Amino acid sequence: MNWNIAPECVSLVILGIIWTYARKGSQLPTVRNKMFHACLAITFSAMLSNIASTFLIYHYLSVPLWLTWTVTTVYFILTPLMGAAYFHYVLSVVYGDEEKLIRIIKYGIIPAVLYLLFVLLNPFTHNLFVLDREGYQRGGMIAVTYIIFYIYCILSIITTIANRRIIDWRVYRILQAFPVLALAVIIVQHLFPEIILSGSAATCAMLIIYLHLQNRQIYMDYLTGIPNRRELQGMLDLMIKRSPDAEYTLVVISLRDFRQINNTCGQQRGDEFLRAVGCYLHSVGPSENVYRFSGDEFALLFTKEEDNEVDLCIRSILQRMEQPWQIDGYWFILPVYMGIVRRSDIEDTGEDMISGVEYAIAQAKTGQYGVVCYCDRNMMEKLERRRQIISILREKLKEQSFEMYYQPIYSVETGTFEHAESLMRINESPIGPIYPSEFIPIAEETGMIIDITFVIVDKVCKYINRLREQGIHIGSVHVNFSAVQFTQPDLAKRVLAIIESNHTPMDTLKIEFTESTLAKNSKVVVDFAEEMARHGIKMGLDDFGTGYSNFATVIAIPFGTMKLDRSLVEASSANETSALAVKDIVRVFKDLGMKVIAEGVETEEQRQMVVDFGVDQIQGFYYSKPLNGTDMEEFMKKNEAGV
Ligand code: C2E
Ligand code: CA
Ligand code: CA
Repeated sequence: MNWNIAPECVSLVILGIIWTYARKGSQLPTVRNKMFHACLAITFSAMLSNIASTFLIYHYLSVPLWLTWTVTTVYFILTPLMGAAYFHYVLSVVYGDEEKLIRIIKYGIIPAVLYLLFVLLNPFTHNLFVLDREGYQRGGMIAVTYIIFYIYCILSIITTIANRRIIDWRVYRILQAFPVLALAVIIVQHLFPEIILSGSAATCAMLIIYLHLQNRQIYMDYLTGIPNRRELQGMLDLMIKRSPDAEYTLVVISLRDFRQINNTCGQQRGDEFLRAVGCYLHSVGPSENVYRFSGDEFALLFTKEEDNEVDLCIRSILQRMEQPWQIDGYWFILPVYMGIVRRSDIEDTGEDMISGVEYAIAQAKTGQYGVVCYCDRNMMEKLERRRQIISILREKLKEQSFEMYYQPIYSVETGTFEHAESLMRINESPIGPIYPSEFIPIAEETGMIIDITFVIVDKVCKYINRLREQGIHIGSVHVNFSAVQFTQPDLAKRVLAIIESNHTPMDTLKIEFTESTLAKNSKVVVDFAEEMARHGIKMGLDDFGTGYSNFATVIAIPFGTMKLDRSLVEASSANETSALAVKDIVRVFKDLGMKVIAEGVETEEQRQMVVDFGVDQIQGFYYSKPLNGTDMEEFMKKNEAGV
């Protein structure tokens, strides 16, 4: 038969290109990366020996016979070894660097070793091929070569399917593509037996692996040419697995206000600055362990700590960052925040170290700890608690199982409790009761408060309905809206939909929001308040006196009530001047036609004082603490009965 090796030659070139690019991919010394390079080397050599062997067989009369024998033998050795290499690559993807992998590899190479003996005995047995003066002839057991190759392919498929639960689904899909590819090649090969396709198929497989699993872009930051966060994560996991007792220090350097640079001199020059910083850190830090952590953050991983290396490095960086950086005639100082986590302190995984260092950066940004913040055990514990609270919030949100408490609000005019404020509670959780002052900020930071608030609006509507069904009069129940709530584009629509679906009268709900919300999104809040007013839903300003109010904005909003913060009530009872000022404020708001509520009234003296101020409503422990739904019902019933 005349074999056509053109596809094999083209594939060899393509494989050469892939190999060249793959050298710049992940540099982690993992079994997986080693296996990938082994696959490339074996595939490349198998294809090369195939081409050479075919060429020599055609010209067997003009070349020494031993040369053709040798090259053809190499081809027969390498072809099924390709299958073995792929199989071991699959194993390394599935099992990572676990010990199990090494054990399976030991068994996995048995067929390959037996086959190797089989090939080496061929000069005596002629089972695979014979080469003599009459040319090349197939041996009787040549099928063994293909059988070995297919055994490894089938083992790869079985391994992938058996471990599908522990493999990332994207990786699973890619690994699953190979059997389909192999089948397609077998069919085409069957239709065109003279065209040699094994190399093309192998090249396709390598290309798929390269593009999806081993690609440079997956592990390298394109802009700065240094490894990215994913590579850092891989490196940390690997180091911790290999030497769990060793000390590692992870330092993250976050450029302060980097957005300003982009705004001033454009994105392109901003990129140049980042490149320059990356380059500098490479020169000053542990050069093989510098990573781009995020947009304007870099990470340095110190794996062997010698002679205060970390401290010296941090000091040099801080000193350098006090000096200006220059790009294209633009000069900038790039001040930084630094977060540091040392693994010797804690029994933690790579992921924990990364969250620890992120937390340290966030703490550094608050300005309470200076620009360099160490994530110590205390902070790690706080972080752990925060993580627990996040998962509790997530769980409660899923089950909609937040408890709602209600604090009655007294009306000075009628002498009864006309309104109430809804307050969320987590009284029961795996870590005991959690107070709103702790969980609300976390819910806000994670954005979970948005969905939580929708659940609360629904619960409050149902509660109002319950009160009304029992004939208990309630003017309105207040619901707190955090600032992030107003980032929801369809906020008004969703709120209205929830109230409508409960058939709750619109005017029995009042939305409380704070001055800081107003400062952040004043246009959005004004539009929302107007929309709510059109539907009869009231809005009220909460915590007046704690933020920096823009009076013009405050009075422009169509809301009916203003709540004096507890701190103003406290200050007024302690200080005559404050009392006079607060009294004036109350008068101004009342002149504007608003109702004023005093919050945090605890004593008879304070009650008398705020009544003198002329407030319309009073909320505070003096009358009642926040109550659960049932207690609130009892309270309201007693109130109506005048008890
Ligand atoms: P806030 O909106 O200012 O709620 C009033 C807080 O003052 C409540 O604390 C209430 O228990 C407390 N309080 C009421 N009267 C007195 C008093 O006489 N003396 C003292 N010392 N405190 C009094 P709570 O329930 O711990 O809530 C704290 C904050 O958490 C709330 O402040 C609010 O900002 C937030 N929050 C609570 N529930 C929710 C909610 O459902 N959604 C949102 N977005 N925030 C909520
Ligand atoms: Ca409130
Ligand atoms: Ca308040």
